[in-house]
Amino acid sequence: MYDAALETLDPERLRARQLARLQAQVEAVLGANPFWTARWRTAGLTSARDLRGWDDVRRLPLLDKRALVEDQAAHPRFGTNLTFPLERYVRVHQTSGTSGTPLYWLDTQESWEWWARCWGFVLAGAGVRRDDRAFFPFSFGLFVGFWAGFEGARALGALAIPGGGQDSPTRLAAMQTLGATVLVCTPSYALHLLQVARECGIDPAALPVRVTVHAGEPGAGIPSVRARIEAGWDARAYDHAGMTEMGAYGFECEAQAGLHVNETEFIAEVIDPATGRPATEGELVLTNLGRVGSPLIRYRTGDRVRLASGPCTCGRTFARLEGGVLGRLDDMLIVRGVNVFPSAIEAIVRRFPVEEFQIEVFRAGELDEVRVLLEVDGDDGARRVQDALRAGLGIRLQVAAVAAGSLPRFELKARRVVRR
Ligand SMILES: [Zn+2]
Repeated sequence: MYDAALETLDPERLRARQLARLQAQVEAVLGANPFWTARWRTAGLTSARDLRGWDDVRRLPLLDKRALVEDQAAHPRFGTNLTFPLERYVRVHQTSGTSGTPLYWLDTQESWEWWARCWGFVLAGAGVRRDDRAFFPFSFGLFVGFWAGFEGARALGALAIPGGGQDSPTRLAAMQTLGATVLVCTPSYALHLLQVARECGIDPAALPVRVTVHAGEPGAGIPSVRARIEAGWDARAYDHAGMTEMGAYGFECEAQAGLHVNETEFIAEVIDPATGRPATEGELVLTNLGRVGSPLIRYRTGDRVRLASGPCTCGRTFARLEGGVLGRLDDMLIVRGVNVFPSAIEAIVRRFPVEEFQIEVFRAGELDEVRVLLEVDGDDGARRVQDALRAGLGIRLQVAAVAAGSLPRFELKARRVVRR
């Protein structure tokens, strides 16, 4: 169950709790789970008793996604990161595959309960209560995020409303009829629903939605995106971060001062991606503590983050990631010598009345060249965005206006960067 008292544990007790849970997990996994047993034996860890303190933890090898992809390719279908026989697992989900080959991931009864518990922290952080009605406009396919959110709403005691198998106007009608007070979806889809509502003659601000919670993309952490969602729905928009293979680890509180990492269920480290040494800004490395059947220990997420200093005004003692997930390390573009993250382009584009956009990346010799396509009114609108991009990024990007409705729309993870 979600337990609010855990969120304000003093840091020393929190660290002790993390270490004890990790030691128990290593004890359960070593010898039973072929993937981790082989990796750790190579690294010299043969018994959970070798893991005495944090220095020992930091000597455990880092893991990257490529190793998981290779393991599943070599041992189809689910790889060797399995602590129990296959019949113990009750759920299968799949990563989105935006960064290569998708992974399949299995959960046991216990780890599925764990997902629900983790989402309890996410929803409680956004102020969701037992008397709320949470709507999930999601196709309920292989993507785990909103399935787990749905379970989290149930675990918290709220009313969970499935919005699968419906088009957008039908979903809006269901939200109206059932009085949804919470909307859980990607930031892109929240913006898209606003547009559809206007086309259907529905004023979204007049609906009882008071909270929106966003997963799947970093958008809700981008101030201009958040402002558009909040103004359109007349609600407060909260960011959340999670990964299929890792779990629902990050959430915002009412202070909306970055993403808290749920440190009762995860261990977070930030490293310099080049050297692997601890850093304040760099790559997020995570360990989950409640998924014994298929755990990840010291996993390189590929997400660039910055640790906030000082405590949060909400009273939680959990670490905070300033500005949420800042971008994917492998998404970074180098345009005429300047490092540009697609999220930085989005932050500027969303300040303007742009319905949808796309970033085209061309290879010009050894260099990336970028063109931004915008669904915006007229060349004048495009020019204003171009001026703002130049002021914000320090480089001039090609910008072109395209017809309204001509760019793809996304229900799940948006793919707005296209390589030509
Ligand atoms: Zn807080």
